[in-house]
Amino acid sequence: MQKKADLHVHTSFSDGTFSPAEVVEYAEKIGLSAIAITDHDSVEGIGPTLEAAKDSNLEIIPGIEFTTEIEDREVHILGFFIDYKQKWLIKELKNLCRLREKRMRRMLDCLLKFGISLELDEVRVIAGKGSLGRLHLATLLYQKGYVASIQEAFYKFIGNGKPCYVRGDRISPLKAISMIDRLGGVSVLAHPYTLGMDELIPRFVKGGLKGIEVYHSDHTGAAASHYKKIADDFGLLTTGGSDCHGMGKGKILMGSVTVPYEVVDRLKEAAGK
Ligand code: AMP
Ligand code: ZN
Ligand code: FE
Ligand code: FE
Repeated sequence: MQKKADLHVHTSFSDGTFSPAEVVEYAEKIGLSAIAITDHDSVEGIGPTLEAAKDSNLEIIPGIEFTTEIEDREVHILGFFIDYKQKWLIKELKNLCRLREKRMRRMLDCLLKFGISLELDEVRVIAGKGSLGRLHLATLLYQKGYVASIQEAFYKFIGNGKPCYVRGDRISPLKAISMIDRLGGVSVLAHPYTLGMDELIPRFVKGGLKGIEVYHSDHTGAAASHYKKIADDFGLLTTGGSDCHGMGKGKILMGSVTVPYEVVDRLKEAAGK
């Protein structure tokens, strides 16, 4: 059987609902050979996932998904095979974590205008050890009965462009790309279809971007073909993953989007591993 990898998985150290042990257990159950841990602006889930997988055949790729912003637009940059223990990285991420908390307060303030009063600590309970994000807030809104579904929380309040969407202070995609490079990793533009701004890609490539996430649970077949062609035109690597958030998006996505294991080999080669 062909070996398969899911190169985009979140844990409870960002906004996934699965703990590292649960992530490993599920990945093994569905027969994956490798997964990349790509929490939002956090590397804290990597160690525990490696530990949980140490007696198994499942390969864990240390990764991250940086939330970045350029010209008022949100861009997610994945980093694979990063040296996640670097002290300067931990310091940078601590700061990003603080900024996420500040942003969460602003979203909560905004919800007051809609007669919704929630405390930061209530979001913290949902988030547990995770870096605070919109999926936590959406989950709380749902649990408290303010919305009929997590989707509705995004559609009504906190989706991009909706009344309580707050951008927060973010690093630029080019900074994320150079940080990943400094960490010895491979930078990849995440789910570009959701960004819809192809004209930015040449700038990212000039800045050192190494790949595009062509296959993703939010990408249609047509979108995947479109980005495969762009990747080929620029000589970029292509990756793919489900963007599994445990049960966080209503169903378990892990394994719904995979790539052949050869992609992992190519990433290793690019990272010099
Ligand atoms: P944040 O990093 O706080 O901006 O949150 C981004 C995360 O929110 C994404 O990775 C998804 O998990 C989630 N998200 C964003 N938009 C939606 C949406 N329309 N429906 C469900 N989840 C979403
Ligand atoms: Zn997420
Ligand atoms: Fe993303
Ligand atoms: Fe993601």
